[in-house]
Amino acid sequence: MAIRELRYEGDSVLRKICKPIKAIDSKIVELMQDMEETMLENEGVGLAAPQIGILRRCVVINPHDGSDTLFMINPEIIDQDGEQDCVEGCLSVPNKRGLVQRPYSLTCRYYDLEGNHIEMDAEGFLANIICHELDHLDGVLYIDKARMLSDSEYAEYLRQMDEEYEDEDDGQQE
Ligand SMILES: [Zn+2]
Repeated sequence: MAIRELRYEGDSVLRKICKPIKAIDSKIVELMQDMEETMLENEGVGLAAPQIGILRRCVVINPHDGSDTLFMINPEIIDQDGEQDCVEGCLSVPNKRGLVQRPYSLTCRYYDLEGNHIEMDAEGFLANIICHELDHLDGVLYIDKARMLSDSEYAEYLRQMDEEYEDEDDGQQE
């Protein structure tokens, strides 16, 4: 396995439509293992193939909640419901954050590394990550749809998240 070089905003590879994967061979498995390693090394929660310069429809996702990394090949969203405001960042757009509206829940289909066709429901943060990563496969960056946050707005958001977390913590102790 190897850590691959990230591509950044301004690189035209991030603006192209990725091609479907026709066969899940050892090259694809190696690619996606490298994607996982690159995502974890950079403390990302998701990574799409074009972010390392590969124009194929696959993404890796790990929301850092203790669950295993999702390896999604030819993923598609087949249903979605509700909405949520998400504060997003992107490994390809360093040091920026923006507020994006996403569906609250969705159903997606994809192939896993063993070639199984999976249908999965997701909501909240996981649904947010899936939308963000799948956009990459169509050359879309979150900054295209976001209201960008200033440093002070983002600091305020983090402060509020901290408070919510502390409240939850208190609740659990009682
Ligand atoms: Zn991204």
